[in-house]
Amino acid sequence: MSEKIILDYGSGGKASQRLIKEMFVRHLGNPWLNRLDDAALISDLEGPLSMSTDTFTVDPIFFPGGDIGSLAVHGTVNDIAMLGAIPKYLSCAFILEEGLDMDDLDKIVSSMAAAARNAGVLIITGDTKVVPRGAVDKIFINTSGIGSVIAEPSPSGSSASPGDAILVSGSIGDHGLAILSHRQGISFETDILSDSQALNHLIVRLIREVGNIHVLRDPTRGGLATTLNEIAQQSEVEFFIEQDRIPVREAVEGGCSFLGFDPLYLANEGKFICILPEKFADKALEIMRSDPAGLGAVKIGHVREGRKGKVVLKTPLGGHRLLDMLEGEQLPRIC
Ligand code: MG
Repeated sequence: MSEKIILDYGSGGKASQRLIKEMFVRHLGNPWLNRLDDAALISDLEGPLSMSTDTFTVDPIFFPGGDIGSLAVHGTVNDIAMLGAIPKYLSCAFILEEGLDMDDLDKIVSSMAAAARNAGVLIITGDTKVVPRGAVDKIFINTSGIGSVIAEPSPSGSSASPGDAILVSGSIGDHGLAILSHRQGISFETDILSDSQALNHLIVRLIREVGNIHVLRDPTRGGLATTLNEIAQQSEVEFFIEQDRIPVREAVEGGCSFLGFDPLYLANEGKFICILPEKFADKALEIMRSDPAGLGAVKIGHVREGRKGKVVLKTPLGGHRLLDMLEGEQLPRIC
């Protein structure tokens, strides 16, 4: 294959075949994908099913703690898992810019393969398009996926109830600040790495060992503040959050004040919010902290009747203010 992606690779002809076999099948191969049929036949999934899709356009494509390939797997795996499901199969579609380095593509696809292995999912069907220089920036990836729901009932953003505890699985803002500082060429004393990771194995443990989980959601774009607002609105309840309980790494706090960002609005790609009845909170925290994906888990607040759809933040000085949703786009191409 050539050193750079050329338009021929998206032609559907011989060059496409070569790219599929020598790149995608080589890294991602499995009995479903290797058949190279028009679609993949799934015969072992029992309903109800959870299905999700996401498109990844992150800039830069390689960043501290990850790359667009692993992120594209983690993002969809995590969204499927948030319904209380075990993700099983993924599709992936690539839009490649003419001129993309073949070595970069190789690294990205190999990283997708590793992320899929760790998450226990298979990429069973896919598509590749190549567009002329400038029509996209290097590489965009769409992944869709499907998995079996094991939670009964399935957690939902509309299920938060007064008396529930609000937990978060670890430090906030890492992904957003890692991307932002890398993009601006700023380095901090302590390396800030993206938290991009698969959460599905921990979610399965929580569902099997705790159950009774009302809400699971990963605070990606818009950050923790926006996601909390979405859930409070969907559930028509008020959230009471204590700001000094929200875990933010010192380096992220410092980087944010330097760059003028609020970590509560920065994207996360490996954290989740878990809302469940207060009496199960300690058990859930114990399980979360025993797992590498939830080491920094803490309770940050609770759900109460109050004003529907509002998030009240108790500041470290003891004052109270309303925590709003993100206005507009803080950081384009963050994921
Ligand atoms: Mg999500």
